[in-house]
Amino acid sequence: MAKVTLEGRPTAVGSIFCVGRNYAAHIAELNNVRDDMPLVFLKPQRALVPPGGSLTLPDYSHDVHHECELVLLIGRDADHVPVEQALDVVAGYAVGLDLTARDVQSELKAKGHPWTRAKGFRGSACVSDFVAAKRVSDPTRLRFSFSINGEVRQRGDTAMMLVGVAALVSWLSAEYGLQAGDLIYTGTPEGVGPIHAGAHLEAELDGLVSAHWDVTR
Ligand code: MG
Repeated sequence: MAKVTLEGRPTAVGSIFCVGRNYAAHIAELNNVRDDMPLVFLKPQRALVPPGGSLTLPDYSHDVHHECELVLLIGRDADHVPVEQALDVVAGYAVGLDLTARDVQSELKAKGHPWTRAKGFRGSACVSDFVAAKRVSDPTRLRFSFSINGEVRQRGDTAMMLVGVAALVSWLSAEYGLQAGDLIYTGTPEGVGPIHAGAHLEAELDGLVSAHWDVTR
C-alpha cells in the first residue's frame, strides 16, 4: 500500500481524488468550460511519487504537463460532512503535481473516454510531505509555486479556487464518502506546460514545505 508522510509519520494512502477546472484562469488557458459541479477523477496508488523521487514519463506521450496543486490528506472517515465541519477531517496539507499527458488527454476528450491513460500513469501524482492541519492557520489563503530547473512556472493561491477546500471536502464526502488516508488534489492554477527528461522539478507550499523530483526519461 502506498504511503505519504505526515509530520514524519508514514501514513497509508486510500483513494486519490483529483479535482479539475477549479481555477478560472486555468479553465480559460485550456479553452474549457466551467461545470456546475466539481470535475472529479481518480488516480491509482501506483501513480504516487514521494518527495525526492525520480519519475519516468510515459513513452506514449510527447506532451506531459505539470499541474501544481494543493493536496489534502483526509484524517478520518467522513460521510456527508457539512461545509462548516469539513476542515476538521483534513489531517494535513501538501503540495503536489497532477502530471498530465496532454496530447493523450485531448484524444480521450475527443472520443468521450475516461482520462485514466492521460492522468493515471506511474509517476503522475508527485506529492510533498504533509504539514499537520493544525499548523495551517487559513487554508483558504495558501500560496504555492512550481519551478523547473529553478525557473518559476506556476504560482497559485487557494483564495482563487472556484470551489474552496471546505466545500470540496464536504461535496466529496457526500458524493463518494471519504476515508482516512484519502488524498485530494484540489486543481491547478494557470501556467501549465510541458516537462522534459532531465528536468529538475520543485514545488513549494507557503513557506511550510517544499519538495523536488527529477525527470529521468
Ligand atoms: Mg489537475
